[in-house]
Amino acid sequence: MSRYFSSKYSQLTPYTPGEQPQDMVYTKLNTNECPFPPSEKAMEYLYKNLRPLNLYSDPQMDELRKILAETYDITPDMLCINNGSDESLNFAFMAFCDENRPAVFADITYGFYPVFADLNKIPYEIIPLEEDFSIDPKKYMGLNKTIFIANPNAPTGKILPVSTIEEIVKSNPEGVVIIDEAYVDFGGESSIGLTKKYDNVMVIQTFSKSRSLAGGRLGFAAACPALIQDLNTIRYSTNPYNINSMTAAAGIGTLKDPEYTKRCCNTIIENRAYLAEELKKRGFEFPESVANFIFAKSPKIDGGELYRKLKEKGVLVRHFDKETICQYNRITIGTRQQLDVLLAKIDEIMEEMQ
Ligand code: PMP
Repeated sequence: MSRYFSSKYSQLTPYTPGEQPQDMVYTKLNTNECPFPPSEKAMEYLYKNLRPLNLYSDPQMDELRKILAETYDITPDMLCINNGSDESLNFAFMAFCDENRPAVFADITYGFYPVFADLNKIPYEIIPLEEDFSIDPKKYMGLNKTIFIANPNAPTGKILPVSTIEEIVKSNPEGVVIIDEAYVDFGGESSIGLTKKYDNVMVIQTFSKSRSLAGGRLGFAAACPALIQDLNTIRYSTNPYNINSMTAAAGIGTLKDPEYTKRCCNTIIENRAYLAEELKKRGFEFPESVANFIFAKSPKIDGGELYRKLKEKGVLVRHFDKETICQYNRITIGTRQQLDVLLAKIDEIMEEMQ
């Protein structure tokens, strides 16, 4: 830290993103990217429709909002386009939390939530998950604070039904309920429909997982127009050109080829069933996942040790040091070929231990 660093941030512990190592080619199953490239039609659209880069991008993202609104049967004024879900989340912490309305989220969930809260000097309350990693909705009723729920949750992969989310939204009329649906396209049901019915729910989605655009950095928030206006006040006070023209064009192209996204998601769902079966055969334990990852532990090997040994053998998975989950590794669902490499390396490691 330099002696010039603001005292506002000197105590901040930044988020640690998953590794993106460049030293060798890994079988990369650690950051829940889509293993398939963006659709060819999307890339073609990008090349043919790119707005000249000497001009600023459209701060309103009109074209992208129009096609997204059609996709989700809402109106464009119910959408704010952001630089990945991370930016939508940070804006939501800034817009809807303060001393009087603290943030509330689970103890085991997306690790960026407490960082956003600390960055913005927002107090937060933590609600522990149940023993089986489920969320007990009763603990979220009548809080009237700003609630953040990753649904499906990360890194557990468990989901709450929309009917339960609706109960939580109804019971917190004085607080916004923010549903982070980064992983909803792999078999989950979206709560976007609730944004037409309630003025205190916001759904945040990303193009990073099911839409193969993690490197493009694109996401959106859906909510009633008044909440979106609040988010835009923050956005226009931070970076009105938060989406570059290349990413915007890639996003529009992606939405014009929904069949490709569907096919990718279906393959991931099939591969998830395959990995679950193979991990079970090897004695791993894990909650049933509706996301593009499985959060698994083996009674035969320490979680950290498995992570390290897999990395030595060229396979990256995500391990968290937190005591309650340090026996687990979060494994992204890759291609069948990637999963077979993972399974072969797990078998090798188990053999070497005998
Ligand atoms: N929410 C959750 C639950 C996530 O796991 C992630 C990915 N790390 C994000 C949001 C952020 O996604 P992105 O910024 O790539 O859209």
